[in-house]
Amino acid sequence: MFLSKRISQIRPSVTLAITAKAKAMVSKGIDVIGFGGGEPDFDTADHIKEAAKRALDEGFTKYTPSSGIKELKEAICKKFIRENNIEYLPEDILISCGAKHSIFNALLALCDEDDEVILISPFWVSYPEMVKATGAKAVILETNQENGFKLTPIQLRRAITTKTKLLILNSPSNPTGSVYKKDELMEIANILIEGDIFCLSDEIYEKIIYDGIQHFSIASMGEEIKRRTIVVNGVSKAYSMTGWRIGYAAGPREIIQAMGNLQSHSTSNPTSFCQIAAIAALSSPQEQIERMVVEFQGRRDYMVDRLNKIEGISCVKPEGAFYIFADISKTLGKRYKNRMVIKDSLSFAELLLSEARVAVIPGEAFGAEAYIRFSYATSMKNIVRGLNRIEEFMHSIL
Ligand SMILES: *Cc1c(COP(=O)(O)O)cnc(C)c1O
Repeated sequence: MFLSKRISQIRPSVTLAITAKAKAMVSKGIDVIGFGGGEPDFDTADHIKEAAKRALDEGFTKYTPSSGIKELKEAICKKFIRENNIEYLPEDILISCGAKHSIFNALLALCDEDDEVILISPFWVSYPEMVKATGAKAVILETNQENGFKLTPIQLRRAITTKTKLLILNSPSNPTGSVYKKDELMEIANILIEGDIFCLSDEIYEKIIYDGIQHFSIASMGEEIKRRTIVVNGVSKAYSMTGWRIGYAAGPREIIQAMGNLQSHSTSNPTSFCQIAAIAALSSPQEQIERMVVEFQGRRDYMVDRLNKIEGISCVKPEGAFYIFADISKTLGKRYKNRMVIKDSLSFAELLLSEARVAVIPGEAFGAEAYIRFSYATSMKNIVRGLNRIEEFMHSIL
């Protein structure tokens, strides 16, 4: 084997594999309804695009400091004070090529071979693979629909060993949409402080949250937990800027600097004019987000309602993000049209795609076999048509 041990363990993203299959069908002229999308279906706002165009015209096209420009770091610090009640200085901020890149930098900066990183399942697809790439070991704690897909303090306490380095927290969560409340975060924070464990808090969906629920950052729960937390966020999801590749991390200066050193030898700076666009996104009126969230909420309510009326599928109402994580355990082991057996979430997703022309992501990708993930980052019209197809598909499962 010529590949390194670390890299040969990394699986390709299941999310991308299903999406690729759906795209191939579409290119053959087949009308596929996609519930696979992991990005908002809205355009980036004009004032953000204008800021990027201006930067280009003004010749802002060269290398910037590799950890990002001061003006964007300042805008991020203001955002943290305004929205999260956390005080950072520009030196405590690293701007990366997307939040994903910030997470990877953080894991590489903190994890040694054989360190343990606690993940909460269902988890975002990339966490376990990134942990593997560092040589550390992912310790997976399972949650389910009954407990709102949230980690309990007892579970966390039991999982901690002398090797535990880090907990990855993702609230609002992809794929479950669950949001941790303030007192829940406080309890988790206390356990982490007691165990001298770090927290990587992925808050990329903080703005996409419903029913008046409030997002809290675990780093705002006190000075001691702030000293152990790397907050990761970015402009991708809130501002429909997935392709611009701007994310950021904030945390203890020593860690942020180490992450910056690493970045300076890999990607160097995130794209110069995209950093200017990110300043425009963070510093201008935010009503675009409110409109998006209202639209998402309407789609969510419609979808949850209809899915729960379908025999064999059940789901809870997600509190944030733009996904529904639905339980399909009742279909496992059954047959579709008396022919194919539904073995697992992947065979469910494959059948749904080939037979009903509906793309979803199998729960397997998130460490949860009996579930599938629907994204409602698609038009209401598509949602209605897709659900009609799913209803019909489910009638043929015996
Ligand atoms: C989309 C997503 C990210 C990555 O965001 P980018 O800024 O586009 O890299 C990180 N975490 C979660 C949970 C996501 O769903």
